[in-house]
Amino acid sequence: MSIEVTNLTKVYGSQRAVDGISFSLKKGEIVGFLGPNGAGKSTTMKILTGYLRATEGIAKVSDFDVSKEPMPARRSIGYLPEHNPLYLDMYVTEFLLFSGKLYGMKGTSLQSRVEEVIVLCGLETEKRKKIGQLSKGYRQRVGLAQSFLHNPSVLILDEPTTGLDPNQIQEIRDVIRTAGKDKTVLFSTHIMQEVEALCDRVIIISKGKVVNDSSLQELRNTG
Ligand code: ADP
Ligand code: ADP
Repeated sequence: MSIEVTNLTKVYGSQRAVDGISFSLKKGEIVGFLGPNGAGKSTTMKILTGYLRATEGIAKVSDFDVSKEPMPARRSIGYLPEHNPLYLDMYVTEFLLFSGKLYGMKGTSLQSRVEEVIVLCGLETEKRKKIGQLSKGYRQRVGLAQSFLHNPSVLILDEPTTGLDPNQIQEIRDVIRTAGKDKTVLFSTHIMQEVEALCDRVIIISKGKVVNDSSLQELRNTG
């Protein structure tokens, strides 16, 4: 499995933010992680990417247990956090080269990969600008470019379209579709239409529990 979560629980104080959830994603699936604010989506994603430790349960990415084998697990993940901290004073190309170095990439292979993700994310016209000068939509594309840089097999995208206007949303979807081809994608949203536009399967989470896990077709049939 590309992603496998078993009985995952995260407790903050007395609150069970994630309450014994289980689900898995096969290689190549694009799955929507749908739920209202506060449902536990970000917490689950942060556990999958190793930024938070689970209270109980197991999270595996590319068959690596993220708590026992964090490095190989992380290497296979591209993560776009909900509030992606970008360096506003850096130029787009400079920032991507810098991010690649943090991933251990270097030299001409890093340079050609940066050029590749710039094209993939439609950033050609913006690449010489500072990130702080870009629109919200283009900033989000920079975040996506950063998450794809090391060519991960699994993409974990936390509310990638939230706060964008309809045009920007359409463009971000196109980037996810193109860049997510042949990858496993888990992306969170609180809007059903987002799931319908991109996914064939939806996992619905509410108050820390999975309340639905089915294809969109099945969900429609059950009303
Ligand atoms: P979602 O991503 O679905 O909006 P979150 O995973 O961010 O949900 O949050 C789930 C619940 O956990 C919320 O009730 C939130 O307030 C709470 N929570 C999140 N992070 C923390 C934290 N660091 N400390 C305490 N409570 C938290
Ligand atoms: P090192 O200094 O050993 O390269 P890093 O912590 O910089 O260690 O990165 C280790 C691995 O974790 C890299 O292969 C990279 O792909 C991955 N990684 C780094 N940052 C993130 C992130 N934000 N989300 C997911 N994976 C990451």
